[in-house]
Amino acid sequence: MNKDLRQALEKLRIEYVGKLSETTQQIEELCQRLNESVEIEVMETLMQICHKLAGSGGTFGLPVLSDAAKKLELVLSNMLEKPSEKLLESQYQIILKNSEMLLQECRKIISYSNPEIGKQEYLIKAEKELSNLILIKSDESQHINQLATQLCHIGFEVSITETFMDLSRLAEEKLPSLIIIKTEFSDSELSEIQDFLGQRSSKTENIPLLYLCERNNFITRLTAVRLEGAGFLGLPTNSIKVIDQYYYLTQKQHARNYHVLIIDDDPILAKRYALALENVGIQVTILTNPNQALNLLSEKTVDLVLLDFHLQECNGFEVAKILRQLDHYISLPIIFLSTEINLNRFMRSAHLGIDDFLTKPIVDEDLISIVMRRAERSYILRNLIEQDSATGLLNHSRLKLDLHLEVLRSDRTGMKFCYALIDIDHFKVVNDTYGHFIGDIVIKTLAHLLQQRLRSIDRIGRYGGEEFGIIFPNTSVEEGLSVLAQIHKKFSEIEFMAGDSKFFVTFSAGIAEYPTFMTGELLNLAADAALYESKRGGRNRLTIATPEVVVCGMQHEKSK
Ligand code: GH3
Ligand code: MG
Ligand code: MG
Repeated sequence: MNKDLRQALEKLRIEYVGKLSETTQQIEELCQRLNESVEIEVMETLMQICHKLAGSGGTFGLPVLSDAAKKLELVLSNMLEKPSEKLLESQYQIILKNSEMLLQECRKIISYSNPEIGKQEYLIKAEKELSNLILIKSDESQHINQLATQLCHIGFEVSITETFMDLSRLAEEKLPSLIIIKTEFSDSELSEIQDFLGQRSSKTENIPLLYLCERNNFITRLTAVRLEGAGFLGLPTNSIKVIDQYYYLTQKQHARNYHVLIIDDDPILAKRYALALENVGIQVTILTNPNQALNLLSEKTVDLVLLDFHLQECNGFEVAKILRQLDHYISLPIIFLSTEINLNRFMRSAHLGIDDFLTKPIVDEDLISIVMRRAERSYILRNLIEQDSATGLLNHSRLKLDLHLEVLRSDRTGMKFCYALIDIDHFKVVNDTYGHFIGDIVIKTLAHLLQQRLRSIDRIGRYGGEEFGIIFPNTSVEEGLSVLAQIHKKFSEIEFMAGDSKFFVTFSAGIAEYPTFMTGELLNLAADAALYESKRGGRNRLTIATPEVVVCGMQHEKSK
């Protein structure tokens, strides 16, 4: 566990124990009141406090506290199910006995607060940042060099080595994100590969291996699988196939950028869950009041909701029902954070729209594992609906929705952002001269170039055939233009191959800024008008949208 996380957890634990004094006092007062007269409300409040302690105690590494709270909660819950006018003396004695045990435990923790309590080691370590480096072992140069040049143009860093000795050394030194081995699996190569595999350290043994082989048949594929090959491509191949493999193999290795929403009215406990999830690279938003949930969900993409049972004005079941009544969140996974007592109620009332439940106290490993599993499925499903299948970019409708959401967000934060539209120049000529298949390679190459060169917060979509749209959050139009200009230059330098012919392609673009253009429709119109200006001016250029450009563009539309 890293030092920062350990310190953060320790800080939270101290805060938790600090609050325990307040809670102890509250329990004492409530018991006192019950002694004077039986009030259902008092019993309910006491039960809620126990419920929270039962859940949070275990999470903070205080299982005895959690058990004592659970017992008292159960006693109260049973009595409240059949409330009687008068609390029998015997019933009161049971409450008293159990609350005394709980109070004793609370006092013990407060006075002997031991810093070692509550520390938990995470099984899963934070994923390392994905590097851009691809390491290739090959003793053939021509085809591999061409491939490497194309990959470099798109934005990858590529190192080629001729020997396995260098491959081992470079892998350890540079930690690439993918290792490619070109081989025909001759006897001598087989033993060299085995040696290479055996010598890897714990740092490099999980880097995916992609084999390139001229003989593309079952036997060579089987050999590759047995030599820990995660991927296999027959030769000759092209950069697009290699990049597709790259994304497929490396994404498997790394936690995706999942976003989890925690709704829990106990801020310290929510923070505790958030730290565990953030430690494995999951983005977390905490809401202590469910009132804000709908706003948040309309502005941000969430892959999963962790929902507590006891909230301030309502309970978790009710929030789940509200979310499920809205079409947009019908497939959003909702995981319930409950105690065994809630769970029984949950079992009795089916069809509440809850996908899973975690029983408090929740162990970090269980939390991480269930969240990862559910979030991954939700992410895959969402991507199937929202992605363009050929390029993996956002599809037209998702891009439009994101543009609208970005307007709402920037409206709230007062930040600028910009939106660009790109269209490949004379693409019909590419198709007519080299064929549709080569045309597709050009489109995919531009898509990959955009993915490689842009930030993860930028939203890239395939707007239509050979047109792309990009949202640059928190970016002025000048900054956006400068990034776009670099991509524009890189793209024009990529040498495409069709048989023996080589050719180059360019694109034109238009870029518009918020708040100069204040709605999604206006931004789209403005970027499109600026794109038209670029085309009209001779193509292969970028234009910033101004209100005048938009007016010209609209006049052009009318005269068409
Ligand atoms: P301009 O510089 O004015 O943009 O000229 P252009 O030739 O690119 O003209 P236009 O944008 O009108 O033509 C786009 C062409 O792209 C028409 C269509 O056949 C082709 N296209 C659209 N989608 C695909 C695709 O997925 N694959 C391929 N290969 N071609 C596509
Ligand atoms: Mg077009
Ligand atoms: Mg075009």
